Amino acid sequence: METLINFSYIIASILFIYGLKMLGSAETARRGNMISSIGMLIAVVVTLISKEIISYQWIIVGLITGALIGGFAARLVKMTSMPEMVALFNGFGGLASLLVGWAEYEKITQLGWMRYIVNLSGTPTFTSTVIFLAVLIGGITFTGSVYAYLKLAGKVSGKAKVFSGQKLVNIFLAAAILLSGLLFILSENPSGAYGYFLAFVILALLLGVFGVMPIGGGDMPVVIALLNSLSGLAAAAAGFVIVNNVLIVAGCLVGASGVILTFIMCKAMNRTLGNVLFSGFGATASSGEGSAFEGELKPISASDTYYLLEAANSVVFVPGYGMAVAQAQHTVKELATLLEENGAEVRFAIHPVAGRMPGHMNVLLAEADVSYDQLVEMDSINPSMPTVDVAVVIGANDVVNPAAARDAGSPIYGMPIINAHEARTAICLKRGKGAGFSGLENQLFLMPNTRMLYGDAKNSIQELVSEFKNS
Ligand code: NDP
Repeated sequence: METLINFSYIIASILFIYGLKMLGSAETARRGNMISSIGMLIAVVVTLISKEIISYQWIIVGLITGALIGGFAARLVKMTSMPEMVALFNGFGGLASLLVGWAEYEKITQLGWMRYIVNLSGTPTFTSTVIFLAVLIGGITFTGSVYAYLKLAGKVSGKAKVFSGQKLVNIFLAAAILLSGLLFILSENPSGAYGYFLAFVILALLLGVFGVMPIGGGDMPVVIALLNSLSGLAAAAAGFVIVNNVLIVAGCLVGASGVILTFIMCKAMNRTLGNVLFSGFGATASSGEGSAFEGELKPISASDTYYLLEAANSVVFVPGYGMAVAQAQHTVKELATLLEENGAEVRFAIHPVAGRMPGHMNVLLAEADVSYDQLVEMDSINPSMPTVDVAVVIGANDVVNPAAARDAGSPIYGMPIINAHEARTAICLKRGKGAGFSGLENQLFLMPNTRMLYGDAKNSIQELVSEFKNS
């Protein structure tokens, strides 16, 4: 039986890795997701037939509750709220690992001296070390993710919260966790180490909150990716606690891919991870637009925009979070087709952190059947921006903010952007004067070659489509 279980775990692990590889391209991502899910199903079923299970009663209750919550959440949650859901799922993953570590600790303390004989997890020191790691990483992930969820959902302020001595508090928390963890691991008698155990549980939960507190604005995607990675590492530690090979492999895969994604996001923002985590970005950013820069907002009507587009040879759409809110992707695809029929070259400029989750724009545009060949990444499209006749900025703000390139005093200085301001004309579609996620002012909207097409993005694009059809 043991051999069969381990063989099935190897099959499951291969499916995870194969599925993960397929997630690297939008064309194969759906199939990759399905293949990884089959791997997870195999892992769960095989684990359920393991001889260590004493009673199925609570497992069935958990399975039904989890399946109902997961099923409803996946159906009901809007695409624009997906990052909040991912944040919560990361948090629950962390909590699960914390509870696994805790349960194992309770088991060991009940065994007394017998633990030296029956504890198959390894030496007591090894077991207490992995319990400490599962509880520590799980605890930080849990409260950090819940706080990130509250920020993303707008239930608490999304801005960075910075207070004097904050770094010292975090250093103190980290040092206190390490000390209590060390005393716990080195303790001869696990039952007597209950105080140390509770201390690092509480301190880890606090560190999660204090760690996410100074991170705000445009840095949230990096935090979500990092918390995702941490939830994987916590699961891997939990895998060592209960000696479950597939949990160790799955946890390491999530941990490693989360770290890779974290660094990709940091690179996209031209920031170091240390800078993202500790600089308090966005804590002092002002909101609204137009107050500190020269220039004025110049509105344009849909019919005047139509004349510009009708005469354009080259058009670049720059989608952002507003396109997701307006669910304008299908109408945008319709307009793109009309422009192509009119002889224009049409491309879509994709910024790595546009929207509210990695790949958000790719997902929306794929849903509307926009060809993958038309999606051009930031680095590839920027050199050709000065030759573009019209850049149509659809509900994007932070990812086209020229302050990132020009204003050395701006908190986003150095972050790569899509150079919509370099196009001959930039038409910006938004509803009003709302700031972007980072709360910063945007110079693009005040530039001489920029025009503002106000209104819900879907309605505005629909008006342009009608202009083309009626012409
Ligand atoms: P922004 O959040 O910077 O700006 C969105 C703009 O869309 C707003 O200025 C808003 O202006 C406009 N808007 C909202 N609804 C509509 C609508 N119905 N029709 C038209 N316009 C609308 O978006 P970007 O995509 O440029 O930048 C993404 C930001 O989110 C970055 O700061 C990024 O760091 C952050 N982020 C990204 C994540 C990711 O993984 N991609 C995750 C979490 C955060 P108005 O209100 O005036 O309409």
